[in-house]
Amino acid sequence: MTIIDHIERAQSTLFSFELLPPIKGHNLETIFDAINPLLEFSPAYINVTYHREEVVYRTDEAGRTVPRILRRRPGTVGISAAIQTRYGIDVVPHLVCGGFNRWETEDALIDLDFLGIENVLAIRGDADKITGRFTPKQDGHTHAIELVQQVADLNKGHYLDEALEVRTPTRFCIGVAGYPEKHAESPNPQHDLQHLKAKVDAGAQYIVTQMFFDNKAYFRFVDSCRQAGITVPIIPGIKPLSVKEHLSMLPKTFAVQLPSELVTEVERCQSNAQVRQVGIEWAIAQAKELRSAGVPSIHFYTMGKSDNIAAIARGVY
Ligand code: FAD
Repeated sequence: MTIIDHIERAQSTLFSFELLPPIKGHNLETIFDAINPLLEFSPAYINVTYHREEVVYRTDEAGRTVPRILRRRPGTVGISAAIQTRYGIDVVPHLVCGGFNRWETEDALIDLDFLGIENVLAIRGDADKITGRFTPKQDGHTHAIELVQQVADLNKGHYLDEALEVRTPTRFCIGVAGYPEKHAESPNPQHDLQHLKAKVDAGAQYIVTQMFFDNKAYFRFVDSCRQAGITVPIIPGIKPLSVKEHLSMLPKTFAVQLPSELVTEVERCQSNAQVRQVGIEWAIAQAKELRSAGVPSIHFYTMGKSDNIAAIARGVY
């Protein structure tokens, strides 16, 4: 079932969460161990992130620093299919522009279609950690909108290979990312909103937001989207703080602000166990208010750990 079908049939705010593929070398049990404690909250669907290759530097036998291109978290398509088959829960694999050319993207979409997966979150992918720039693969997409267009084209039976005799249209429900506090690279909120609207006009059927810690940011964002003519569901993304380092890491990595009250509470903590508890309570308060406001679904960022998400879900659902 598509995410839009889930939202349309829901009587109240849906529970959903995002998982990362395990680091290479681990097995599928890591994923199932993260899902199992959350089953009692009847997740409507589960997102699986995608991680492109990255350059890491290793020292060789001669002591020289040499670059290696590695993917630490492969397996998004296989993990998505395994989850859907084992639990009968719909999945939303993330598909990124980075690391794919258009032909490889088409093949990945065909794989997902064959596997009976009807949802995809179309995103650009992170910029390179070292250069801070996003570099597409040759003949790949530079912005998420181009990926949305490609999926929307495939939904109309427009394949890249024009010589095909049979062109069965796919049926993907397409989600995209949105940023209540603006994307880090965007010069201003209006510019960001303009590009978000273009993604929706190109075929995106719903938006999932970047994490935020002050619900006012989400409500303002929804108002701005509606004023800009964006009418699709906007699913808030919630991430509980869990370690003290998040105070500096999250604003730096995701360009989000942390309210002073939350910062003060975290700074008072003597251990990360206490920080985790503060994060749970803050996220419960956020999610309760969002639920009262009638948001269609809440997307919890698990980072592969589900004990705190289970505690939040218990407090909210
Ligand atoms: P885009 O929509 O391409 O936007 C990127 C920037 O370019 C924005 O500043 C935008 O305003 C601007 N822009 C957009 N279109 C144009 C245009 N045509 N011309 C000029 N400027 C333009 N990353 C991963 O690597 N894997 C994941 O699985 C993953 N999942 C995510 C899930 C969610 C819900 C969110 C919010 C983010 C996720 N990310 C993931 C992070 C994401 O890849 C980064 O935030 C990335 O920097 C931007 O992705 P985007 O799809 O929003 O890009």
